[in-house]
Amino acid sequence: MEDKVRDNYDRPIISLRISITNRCNVDCIYCHHDGMLESSDEMTPDEICQVCRIAKSLGVEKIRLSGGEPLVRRDIVEIVEKVNTLGFKDLSITTNGIYLEKYAQALKDAGLDRVNVSLDTLDPQIYKMITGADLLEKAKNGILKASEVGIYPVKINMVVMNDINTEELWDMFEFCKGNDLILQLIEIIDSDSCEDKDFNSKYHFELSEFEEKLASLADSIKVREFMQNRRKYFIDGGEIEVVHPVENSDFCSNCSRLRVTPEGKLKPCLLRNDNLVDLIQFIRDGCSEEQIKERFLQAIAKREPYYKDEE
Ligand code: SAM
Repeated sequence: MEDKVRDNYDRPIISLRISITNRCNVDCIYCHHDGMLESSDEMTPDEICQVCRIAKSLGVEKIRLSGGEPLVRRDIVEIVEKVNTLGFKDLSITTNGIYLEKYAQALKDAGLDRVNVSLDTLDPQIYKMITGADLLEKAKNGILKASEVGIYPVKINMVVMNDINTEELWDMFEFCKGNDLILQLIEIIDSDSCEDKDFNSKYHFELSEFEEKLASLADSIKVREFMQNRRKYFIDGGEIEVVHPVENSDFCSNCSRLRVTPEGKLKPCLLRNDNLVDLIQFIRDGCSEEQIKERFLQAIAKREPYYKDEE
């Protein structure tokens, strides 16, 4: 960890999550839509690659491509291919899986290490209610295809919502266990951009009690230190992880991730939009590598855990 750039709270910057588009092919009820960007304004594969190269020179080891829906980009394979030439320890994508059946093999061949697929339910009607689309089977086929071509691990992101999918937690675990997938349960994050302003209070489901049950059943438990101290539970040959992002001091105190928005701005903190740092404009203006590095350092200097004033 010695060669890593650290922020003012001594947190090393290990991973970069790049939102490569804000276009999406579904409309999830909980999603924080980050505005709309014309595809012509999106970062090109070369620009994404340049951002990754500079991040690597600062010690970043892992790249995650996200969105919007990253697989709506027709150049997604080229992006993965180009980023892969930089030799990161880990290159992954977060996707809704709908186009994964089509792209899994090409992405694997291009150098993709891992994939996270969002799947909140196994019930077609609930899937339609959450996403607005009738595409559950497509998403499931995408997941199975990713496993079949040897992308490992395939992780399922399930946002847990009170009265919507809480009855399905064990079914989802069985589905994952049976298909050699890791299940990741995510507590919902409040979103200003949700049309339904009471969404969070209606649907937020506290996972601590469920986690106690997991702990009592687990054959073993692992804590992921640089992933916000998340716990992984190994139960009966299956694996399940729980993410509590809401006002969780572990989430913040061990955060090692910097983000890039679809507009090409560095985003120092997940839950804030008031401290973004322009990046892509500097690249497009032809600034030197040192000047672009400086933008990264400015963003890193703006990282603040939410509890900093409470200490
Ligand atoms: N389209 C891709 C997908 O569906 O995975 C990538 C983008 S999506 C915004 C990335 C992840 O954020 C998904 O796993 C999604 O479930 C999660 N997410 C989105 N809004 C959320 C919220 N309000 N609370 C918790 N997780 C959320």
